[in-house]
Formats: sequence, C-alpha cells, structure tokens
Amino acid sequence: MGKVNAWSTYDAKELKKLNKLNKEYIDFLSECKTERECAKKTVELAKEKGYKSIEDVISEGKPLKAGDKIYGLYMNKAVALFHIGKEPLENGMNILGAHIDSPRLDVKQTPLYEDSEMAYLDTHYYGGIKKYQWVTIPLAIHGVVVTKDQKTIEINIGEKEEDPVFCVSDLLIHLAAEQMEKKAAKVVEGEKLDVVVGSMPLDSKEKDKVKLGVLKVLKDTYGMEEDDFISAELEVVPAGRARELGFDRSMILSYGQDDRVCAYTSLAAMLEAKTANRTSCCLLVDKEEIGSVGATGMQSRFFENMLAELINLNGDYSEILLKRCLKNSMMLSSDVNAGYDPLYSDAFSKQSSSFMGKGVVFNKFTGSRGKSGSNDANAEYLAKLRKIMDDNKVNFQLSELGKVDVGGGGTIAYIMALYGMNVIDCGVPVLSMHAPWEITSKADVYEAYKCYKAFLK
Ligand code: MN
Ligand code: MN
Repeated sequence: MGKVNAWSTYDAKELKKLNKLNKEYIDFLSECKTERECAKKTVELAKEKGYKSIEDVISEGKPLKAGDKIYGLYMNKAVALFHIGKEPLENGMNILGAHIDSPRLDVKQTPLYEDSEMAYLDTHYYGGIKKYQWVTIPLAIHGVVVTKDQKTIEINIGEKEEDPVFCVSDLLIHLAAEQMEKKAAKVVEGEKLDVVVGSMPLDSKEKDKVKLGVLKVLKDTYGMEEDDFISAELEVVPAGRARELGFDRSMILSYGQDDRVCAYTSLAAMLEAKTANRTSCCLLVDKEEIGSVGATGMQSRFFENMLAELINLNGDYSEILLKRCLKNSMMLSSDVNAGYDPLYSDAFSKQSSSFMGKGVVFNKFTGSRGKSGSNDANAEYLAKLRKIMDDNKVNFQLSELGKVDVGGGGTIAYIMALYGMNVIDCGVPVLSMHAPWEITSKADVYEAYKCYKAFLK
C-alpha cells in the first residue's frame, strides 16, 4: 500500500539531487511571495529554456511543430506553459496544474489612517486564515502600485536585511482576560488586522502629521501619492526567507508553500521535460484560495482561449478540435494536502492520511460531507497513474483530507473535470497549512517533482 518513508529509499546520488532541488525551491519561496512574483519568475525561467510568448507566436503565425515551447502570461497573475508534442493537439495534453496565490492580508483601497499618532494600513485578509496567527510577527509588503498614467511601481519592502518590516499588534496578556475567553475565531477580528506603518510626525501645520510623514516616505521612495492606493495591489506577507527545519534539516519552513510547493515542482519538471508524444502543459493559476474566481482564476476562460489560439495557428481551428483536445487531456491538479500531525491526531483518520516524508499524495476524491463538491477521479485513471509511479520509482501515498465529516477542501480539479478530462488531486503533505509559516518535508518536495516528470514523460 505504498507509504514507505522516502528517506530510506535514497542513495547518495539521489540525496544530492534532492538537496539541489530543495535549495532552488527555498530560493523560489523566498523571492516569490505573490502570484505576480511567481508568474514573473516562471516566465523568466521559461524564457531561459527557450519558451516564446504566445503573443509573439501568434504574430509570427507559423503552424506549431513538435518541440515548440510557448508561454502565455495572463494579467501578470496566471501563466501557462506549453511544450508541443509529436502527436496532434486534439489527442490531448498532459497537464500539471497548481495555484500561485496564498493566504495573506491585502491592503484595502483607501487604507492609510492615523490614530493616536500611529499610522496604519487597513487590510482585508485573503483566503482562509486563523487570524490570531498573523499578529506580532514581522511582515513585508509586496505588490504593485499603478499610477493614473499606467506606470507600474513594484513594491517589495521587508525582505532585505536593511529593510524595515511591518506588524499587527496584539493586546498584552496583562489586559487580555476578556480576550482570552473568546472563541479562537473572534480572539483577533478581521478589522483588527491593520498593519502599523509609522509613528513619526512630520513638521507641519496640518493634522494627521504621522500619516503625512508616511506619505512623504512613499512619495520620496516610490513617487506615489495617497490616491495611488486606489489602483494598487499590495499584499502583506510574512517577512523573511524560507528556512531548513529540524536538526537534520529534513524539512522546510516557509510562507506560501500552499501551493507554491506544487507550482515550483511542476514548473521544474516542465522546464526539464524533453519533447514528448503528447503536448506537455504547466498551468499556474491565481485565486484558488477564494474559489478560483476572477479573470485569472481557474474558472476563467483564459486557458481555453490560449489553447484556441494555439489550435488556430495550425489553420484548421474549430470548436470540435478544442473540445477534443481538452477532453483527451490528462491532468494532475496539484495542491497541498493535510499532513498527518500527531499532535492533532483527533482530526485525522490514520488509515487514510498522508504522512510527512512518505511521498507525493494522490487524493482520489476531496470534498466534504459525503464527498460533496469533489472531483472523484476515475479508477481507470488511477490505475494508469499507479503504473507510471511504480515504473518510475516514485514514492506515493493515497489520502483523504482529514476524518470524514471533520472538514474538507477543494482545489481546481473539479473545474478542469468540466471538460471531461481525467483529472486527479495530487500534491505534497503540509503541516500548519495556511499559517504564516508552513512545514513540508524535503523528501515530499522531491517525490512530487519526480512524479510530475514521470507524468509528462
Ligand atoms: Mn492550495
Ligand atoms: Mn489553500
């Protein structure tokens, strides 16, 4: 039944590969903390491997041929890579999908205010978080400000050693008797997640001198005005690099491993892939944490539209070719899984849990309360995948997210299943999912990468 500890299967040569991949993964996590940063890095790495932008390929207008490498970047937040195979596109693709958005605090559109001579940024949290986890930790601000004349200012403050950081305060324990009686969901309320950003008054006759002082810094550093917050996307995220975890350095502690652990390993496998019979695709999307909505989420038609453009290059575009391509595709919809946590064993059924270090996880189904909302992968498809994993010596495990009726979760699998393709949830076990700092095992990161490579091949 699988569930071997992957560490016990490695020789020195494999350990070397494992460590190399994880080192690169740690850099990716440390540099890319927003969907925009992940998409940008993806394009950068793809270009190095000879990928051309879909816009350039369309304007060249030449028919596709095996070996062509194309990337499509959508609104700077979602990205798809295609590596054209030897067979026609209508035979379908092998798709690796993952999401690159992560839970965080988003700065609101009229955010800056002063109270009691302290300046704050008002936020609205994004995705499912335990709000009390986000107070009293160093935070960084990443994102973009777009001015009225369409100039994009990139913001990244709180990551360099010499940068300042930001923080959400919490009530001192001495005065918290009442707070400590509250339910965990209410201990820190959403509107209390405002980030303290300044306290030094500007020498001025106007009121709100501390706020003016912050605005002066923003003007001097970034050339931005207060009104520019209207057209900004600023994300408040935990500050600092991803780290190795444990005496034995076998794990990784980082922000945003949901779902950059699957995104990065999918991308790494994709970039190394040789031209296969079927077209390979790596699809990294936004907005999964809030229901895959919006133009850059999986529910959007952007991916289908890109594919239509590719089929159109061969001069014989028809809707039926597009539909056949999608129907005949196979996908690993990759997202993190709840790793079994012995400290919270009550939430898990040990028999159907995924364990740290025991390899990449397949979830035949997700959902909750009678599998509701699940994409239930076909047995025939699972049989095919089992064989691929065994033939390529990939350590894998089957699991369900938590005990029956304890909770549940969804991914992008059900959306891709709408096209009638074979798709299964797959990914990496994580401890403390959605916390500011999440834990993965380096062995599982490596096994996910091996799994994706084997799947594309
Ligand atoms: Mn996820
Ligand atoms: Mn998530």
